[in-house]
Amino acid sequence: MTSRFSPFDRSLWYATAPAAPAMEPLRGEARADVCIVGAGYTGLTTALELARSGASVVVLEREEVGFGGSGRNAGHCTPTFTHYSLDELRRMLGEKWAERLIARQTRANDKAAAYIRDYGIECDWVQQGYVMGALRRGQMAALHAKTESYNAVGARTRVLDRHETEAITGSPRFFGGWHHEEAGHLQPLAYARGLAGAVLREGASVHPGSPVLGCERAGSGWKVTTPDGHVVADRVIFTTGAYTVGGWPKLDQSFRIQRVFVAATRQLDPELRAKLLPRNTTMHDGRGDIYVYKWDGTGRIVASMFPMGRRGQDEGYTREVLADRLKWLHPDIREDIVWEYLWFGELDMQYRTVPRLYGLAPGVVALTGLSGRGVPTGTMLGGILSDWAKGTPEADLDLKIEPLHRAPAWMAVAPALKLRQMRHYENLTARLAGDPLPPHA
Ligand SMILES: Cc1cc2nc3c(=O)[nH]c(=O)nc-3n(C[C@H](O)[C@H](O)[C@H](O)COP(=O)(O)OP(=O)(O)OC[C@H]3O[C@@H](n4cnc5c(N)ncnc54)[C@H](O)[C@@H]3O)c2cc1C
Repeated sequence: MTSRFSPFDRSLWYATAPAAPAMEPLRGEARADVCIVGAGYTGLTTALELARSGASVVVLEREEVGFGGSGRNAGHCTPTFTHYSLDELRRMLGEKWAERLIARQTRANDKAAAYIRDYGIECDWVQQGYVMGALRRGQMAALHAKTESYNAVGARTRVLDRHETEAITGSPRFFGGWHHEEAGHLQPLAYARGLAGAVLREGASVHPGSPVLGCERAGSGWKVTTPDGHVVADRVIFTTGAYTVGGWPKLDQSFRIQRVFVAATRQLDPELRAKLLPRNTTMHDGRGDIYVYKWDGTGRIVASMFPMGRRGQDEGYTREVLADRLKWLHPDIREDIVWEYLWFGELDMQYRTVPRLYGLAPGVVALTGLSGRGVPTGTMLGGILSDWAKGTPEADLDLKIEPLHRAPAWMAVAPALKLRQMRHYENLTARLAGDPLPPHA
């Protein structure tokens, strides 16, 4: 099927993931308690939770399992929030809703680890922690505040001094860092396919190649139509994220797309492993232009950044920026860094960068706006959406249901402007403090 999204088959994950379980497009009529549209982490974990509780569930996927962000992300599973501190979240969402979401998100990796263990999902899952480094002295105060707020809600995090940061990351560049012990990383497409296998094992069905064309009332339930069949269900959940195509009017206008890219080196000399991220943590260099990296299960470094200017437009330059940053952070690297894979994906950005749950009609909801931290978030959202499908009153859900609304027009430029602003701020503050700047800063 043609796609307006970045190609799916260019990633390292596509080349190395175990095959998906056998599944067929929907043909003819199916009946279910719940029909889920979209087979990414959010849809699959919802299906899994529901099927485990005895509900009959059909999942419809336009392309293939994991085709969206779930099969092409960088594989970091860090159970925190991006962009906002916990106090900012409380102010933005209100204490009650924020506390519920915080509790879900900060325990999301327990869920991921349990699914992986219980269903034997082979996805190179390691839970060796995450480090956010401080390339500027001035960042240390914020890392102390972060530690205090996350530990107050039960996370296991701590501030690292310069020596510990170097011991854990192998990089001598940082003034210190923030360590989150429970964070992990994985092979994203393998995880998505493994979740689909778990859903099937629990007795639900998953139909790839089944784009939902429309959803209309049928008696007290809904009829969800695909090219070769339809599902009649009491409840319908759209979990189509940044990759939403049709299905429900205007759902694709509830967010704005932000592209992001990921690259993977060829397999590196095993000796380097002792020097570069020797503890197999995931790593964020702490700069606003967001350079994150980790080892994959085959001995490659996987790194990711947002496009900006020529970065992301010009492939040669993009590879150079990625390599120069890695070598600058790790001066021990003597060999040439060759990026064997470079691929792109799309994020569903919201001006409030937390998931949004929309009530579309009685018995129909949609969830979009994950805004880029979807591995733990999509994993934990299955719990919330399945609560809704099981009839939990709205007031007791862990996300507030709101009417569908269009993302504001300024969101078309806001993420890019914000990134640019963060980059300038970083550079200026580093220069004023006499702190080092990475190449291409
Ligand atoms: C390049 C990249 C790197 C990222 N890195 C990270 C990271 O390291 N860590 C992290 O936590 N998050 C990361 N993310 C974000 C994360 O991957 C996503 O937020 C998450 O996977 C979204 O999951 P989802 O289930 O909500 O949606 P998706 O995985 O996008 O799934 C939605 C599915 O719905 C299907 N669909 C759409 N319309 C229809 C229709 N009409 N009928 C049927 N099916 C339909 C799509 O084909 C798609 O498969 C990254 C994202 C990208 C793109």
